[in-house]
Amino acid sequence: MNEKGQQECLKCGECCKWLTFSVSIPPNMFARYLNYYKTHGCRIIKVKKDQGHIALMVPSVCHKYSFGQGCVVYNDRPQLCRLYDGRNDPNIRCQMNEEKT
Ligand code: SF4
Ligand code: SF4
Repeated sequence: MNEKGQQECLKCGECCKWLTFSVSIPPNMFARYLNYYKTHGCRIIKVKKDQGHIALMVPSVCHKYSFGQGCVVYNDRPQLCRLYDGRNDPNIRCQMNEEKT
């Protein structure tokens, strides 16, 4: 990530605010579970009713994220954060992609 990208990340922080999970659900309970997760602010990103699972994003702000400053440990952030690039994640509204449109 170049310096411009780093500045965008410190302003944006979208990918610091979600956790993604795959969850198994009994086929006859799909509607109830989807409603349950949606009312908790989750984003449903994949529904595989025939295979009995969904993928969802749960709102969860990293404890190193500051709404005023962005990541407060940016220069020492974990390796996973360094490797991740929101531009390649179709489920994240990455600021760097938004600017292209
Ligand atoms: S969503 Fe994109 S711009 Fe925003 S913090 Fe993540 S990688 Fe950076
Ligand atoms: S450590 Fe920093 S870059 Fe990583 S998720 Fe938390 S706030 Fe975001």
